[in-house]
Amino acid sequence: MTSRPYFQQSAQLLETLSSEDVATALLNISKASYSKVSDERINTLMKHIKVVGGHVMGSAHSRSALRTKIHSLCFNLGLPSLFVTINPADIHSPVALYFAGVDLDLDRVLPEVLRTSYERAQIIATHPVATAKFFNCLIKSILKCLVLGSVIDPTKAYFGTHEYTPAQLKENIQNQDFRDNLLKYLEDVVKEDLDLFRDQTNDGTSTASDISVSIQETGPITGEVVPACLSTPNPTSDDFHRIFCKDVVRLVETSNIHKHSATCYKYSKGKSDTSKTCRMRMPRVLVKTSNIDLATGQITMRRSHPWINNFNEWLISAC
Ligand SMILES: [Zn+2]
Repeated sequence: MTSRPYFQQSAQLLETLSSEDVATALLNISKASYSKVSDERINTLMKHIKVVGGHVMGSAHSRSALRTKIHSLCFNLGLPSLFVTINPADIHSPVALYFAGVDLDLDRVLPEVLRTSYERAQIIATHPVATAKFFNCLIKSILKCLVLGSVIDPTKAYFGTHEYTPAQLKENIQNQDFRDNLLKYLEDVVKEDLDLFRDQTNDGTSTASDISVSIQETGPITGEVVPACLSTPNPTSDDFHRIFCKDVVRLVETSNIHKHSATCYKYSKGKSDTSKTCRMRMPRVLVKTSNIDLATGQITMRRSHPWINNFNEWLISAC
């Protein structure tokens, strides 16, 4: 900071500040309904504290700096598609205990080694470094396996790490294999219509168990409970795949089809009705086969329904 051109001038200004000036400013801030300070010197001081504080991890200013970065990312690439909150249960994790020095075989964890939850909480509380190490290890694994790995990768961008940038992606799509795999992956993760699920819900055969399943799992949707509140199909059911597909179809049809609302046009104020466009870009153009534009890097996914919001069948069913 001392090497910055404005430092000398700011330092001279701040030198004239007395503790009384600061006390007066604090008093005024506490009285005012908003924190406008008229003393130029106090504002300069606050500005510099903010800059320095932005580099202090965990401080209010560093959080504010992170928010600015997130906003920039949103302006640049659009709003995030996924918000993920990860809250690791360290007191239930054998890995955290292992880091805290508990002698256990991670491949074969026995109940007696795990001890009671009270004892585990005690171990975790007395080993903050091990707990931080566990958190770091877990978050890194999630980023590696879920974000960069096979579940939601490839990502256009994600906040918090910087291993895979959009620029790299744009470079890689010049490669045919990469392109094919990317589209295959995207088609696997992102669905824009129900073709794949409708085909699976009726195999042409109807048995007694079939009927009981359809009553139990996919009864009439005119009842009280909205499909989104029903439980996720049980993966151990014999007919899971079909029940799952029915669940997906029902969820999408009832809760995932776009209907224009005032919010669609919040940026079209003042425009005539004919020039207003839905900011969710609905209805969407139908696309026969997914493709990538080599020059722009734009990815267009196959879609046979103009109004369905993109979804992932596993997430929509599980959430
Ligand atoms: Zn709309």
